Amino acid sequence: MARYGGIDLGGTKIQAVVADEQHAVLGSSRLPTPTTGGPADVALAMVAAVREASEQAGVGPGGLTAVGVGSPGVVDDAEGSVTSARNLPDWEGSYPLAEKLEAALAAPIALSNDVNVATMAEFELGAAKPFRSLLGVFWGTGVGGGIVLDGELYEGRGGAGEIGHVVVKSDGRKCPCGRIGCMEAYAGRGAMEVRAREKVADGERTVLFEIMEEKGKPRLSSGIWERALERDDKLAHHMIDRAVEALGVGIASSLNLLDVEAVVIGGGLGLRLGDPYVEKIRAAVMPHLFADHRPPEILLASLGDLGGAIGATLLAANKTPAPA
Ligand SMILES: [Zn+2]
Repeated sequence: MARYGGIDLGGTKIQAVVADEQHAVLGSSRLPTPTTGGPADVALAMVAAVREASEQAGVGPGGLTAVGVGSPGVVDDAEGSVTSARNLPDWEGSYPLAEKLEAALAAPIALSNDVNVATMAEFELGAAKPFRSLLGVFWGTGVGGGIVLDGELYEGRGGAGEIGHVVVKSDGRKCPCGRIGCMEAYAGRGAMEVRAREKVADGERTVLFEIMEEKGKPRLSSGIWERALERDDKLAHHMIDRAVEALGVGIASSLNLLDVEAVVIGGGLGLRLGDPYVEKIRAAVMPHLFADHRPPEILLASLGDLGGAIGATLLAANKTPAPA
């Protein structure tokens, strides 16, 4: 009876699950990602999260068959290392994450890029299960993308799927990546927050930052954007509408090139705003879609917040398949 661990390593939280061979979740745990220290501190928190999830699942120490990790940054599974994980504390250089986790958890470790892991989770187990090809769009702090073609993840030479940096306006706004006019410059929550602060400095009124203070958050989280929309905040509506327009242009351009069967919308903002906004994104895609007589399905991610961690259990199972 195989038991797989899965870890979704994010900039704000570490989500761990323990699942069975069918990837049903038996235990889960969520811890905040350390904001100080370095990779070793993050690795310790990952181990703690897996231990909590294991306990809940009734799996003792050393009882996991394998553990998968979806990580930001440049991930080298063969080497077992993660490099330049920008959202994590002091994680610019290369860190031997697999070796450290393997020693602490006494299980083989499989590493992959977080967006690819979440894409494969939706493809194998989630909203895109009926399809053979998929574009995964993860709308959060940035906008991540994953591509599945003919049943296989397509990574190009390692850089494919960067839908957040598809250009939606060639003389447009500066993107957090430093280039001009990327979709993420309009739709990424990080870029949107910078823009909202500029607007406030220019004298525009908004409840966004009041809600942020009420909630005691350091950043404009997805929940804060949702609350501001509910309160009919003009700036929030304007900026989210602009984000939806940028998503529509970027997704349509990508579809004109790839012609996949389905698009799945996930990520912090995508999941939080949900189906009504998936509808709006579909409406923003249609005018730019070339093969508009048979548009692809555009769906909300169905695995929710646990998608990344569940996807990581798929990685673990690929590394160490259950005995037949
Ligand atoms: Zn960019």
